[in-house]
Amino acid sequence: MIIDDQYYDVIIVGTGAGGGTLARKLASTGKKILLLDRGELIHRESSELVDTEVFKKEQFHAPEPWYDNAGEPFYPQTYYAVGGNTKIWSGVLQRMRERDFEQVQHQGGVSPAWALKYQDFEPYYTEAEKLYQVHGKIEDDPTEPPHSQAYPFGEVAHEPMVQHIGDTLSQQGLHPVHLPLGLGNRGRTDAEDTGVSPILNSENVTLKTSAQVVCLHTNPSGSQIKAVEAKIGEQSYLFLGNIVVLACGAVNSAALLLRSANEKHPDGIANGSGQVGRNLMKQLLSVVVQLTSTANSGSFSRTLGLNDFYWGDKDFPYPMGHVQNSGGIFQDVIFAEAPPILSALSRLMPSFGLRQLATHSIGWWLKTEDLPDPNNRVRYVGDKLRIDYTANNVEAHDRLVYRWVDVLKSVEQSQPNVFNRTTHPRSDMPVQVVAHQCGTCRFGEDPATSVLDLNCRSHEVQNLYVVDSSFFPSHASVSPGLTVIANALRVGDRLIEQLK
Ligand SMILES: Cc1cc2nc3c(=O)[nH]c(=O)nc-3n(C[C@H](O)[C@H](O)[C@H](O)COP(=O)(O)OP(=O)(O)OC[C@H]3O[C@@H](n4cnc5c(N)ncnc54)[C@H](O)[C@@H]3O)c2cc1C
Repeated sequence: MIIDDQYYDVIIVGTGAGGGTLARKLASTGKKILLLDRGELIHRESSELVDTEVFKKEQFHAPEPWYDNAGEPFYPQTYYAVGGNTKIWSGVLQRMRERDFEQVQHQGGVSPAWALKYQDFEPYYTEAEKLYQVHGKIEDDPTEPPHSQAYPFGEVAHEPMVQHIGDTLSQQGLHPVHLPLGLGNRGRTDAEDTGVSPILNSENVTLKTSAQVVCLHTNPSGSQIKAVEAKIGEQSYLFLGNIVVLACGAVNSAALLLRSANEKHPDGIANGSGQVGRNLMKQLLSVVVQLTSTANSGSFSRTLGLNDFYWGDKDFPYPMGHVQNSGGIFQDVIFAEAPPILSALSRLMPSFGLRQLATHSIGWWLKTEDLPDPNNRVRYVGDKLRIDYTANNVEAHDRLVYRWVDVLKSVEQSQPNVFNRTTHPRSDMPVQVVAHQCGTCRFGEDPATSVLDLNCRSHEVQNLYVVDSSFFPSHASVSPGLTVIANALRVGDRLIEQLK
């Protein structure tokens, strides 16, 4: 074991949405910061390249297996690189709705209240939108929370066919909106180009890649993290620092805490409450494909969102969720994670090759909040990382899918020359799709029921913070990325105070 001869003010483990953003925020303090990431620094040429690569190969899955409820191995769709999953994300950067921070009764149970509210996050959402260059427009969406400032850039135009659908939806009394998208010169903004790369020339910042943190070591009393152990190549290193921040993603941060158990923390570091790893959420995600008789470009962005059923429908008084177009379906995750949908499409349109399928279809993503359940958890069985996850709130999600298919049918009836089918193949995302993972180290005021305090500091270990998606006490039906970023900026302000 080599002990690094430097002493850092802050060690950040993981450089995705949470860690990469926090690093950017803290760099200007001049304090000595070490970033450790198990992935490599990958500069992306364009988002196009990533799209085709990501979703046709499994190269953006983790190299190690995780294990499902039945103990079967699977390779999760989670990406280890500087920037983390933001290197392959769709860049739809939505704010959670005001009511998402409150206790909400769902058909499948209760979504608990957050101890902090929308107003506490609002300034950081604004800061996050500036940093990640969000392009959007505040429109007539009944669920959109108040913004203190407009989006920094205007909205992205829809593909003509998507615009056509949006117009028809509006005529039917629905409220389609332009999705807020993080976009820079090279395509989608991400935590590498926005968070990490701009600070790499700073003298006070050190990045070590291919550095997999395998254990946290505490002082004898267990009150502080003393050293962070990482494997770089075949060599083990110990890094010493004053403050240690975990940002490995909800599953991997919890896993690291659990496998670092020691005499003072027999069930895992910071796990006196037994809550580390529990309440894993990942949203219910499905795709519905709509087939068209006229061609679209086959290569376009997600731009259209719809929240009319977010809080329910006339005959279903419970939240249902969010709808957005997938963009050109071959640019999307659909086929890598749900191959059956590809064979269904090939059967429906036997004379079509892949290119024609791409230009004669539009995918729709449907997302519903799943509810925190202590039995949905990350844990170790021996040395195997097990993901116990049973979906809940499923009826609400099914309602959303059926309702959306009805909406699509009515759109199709009003434009019979554009759409040629009335079947809408559906695919539900399987366990390996952990793109929207969160929970596992929730924040709260009570150390008996939460892992982190409201500043995302461990209740039990004074110099340990977690700033990735682990802190969520409940999910929402919008995507989590902007909230992870906003929270990292919020915690960054607390750390800057502390570092003074
Ligand atoms: C295909 C896809 C599309 C998505 N699209 C969207 C979207 O459009 N909008 C949205 O809001 N969200 C989207 N998401 C979700 C979004 O990417 C995540 O919510 C967000 O990245 C979570 O941030 P994080 O900081 O928790 O973790 P990550 O961004 O996953 O970062 C974790 C980091 O930790 C590193 N790491 C892990 N373990 C270790 C270890 N032991 N030692 C050292 N380093 C480690 C990883 O390499 C990585 O850099 C998408 C996700 C995927 C996979």
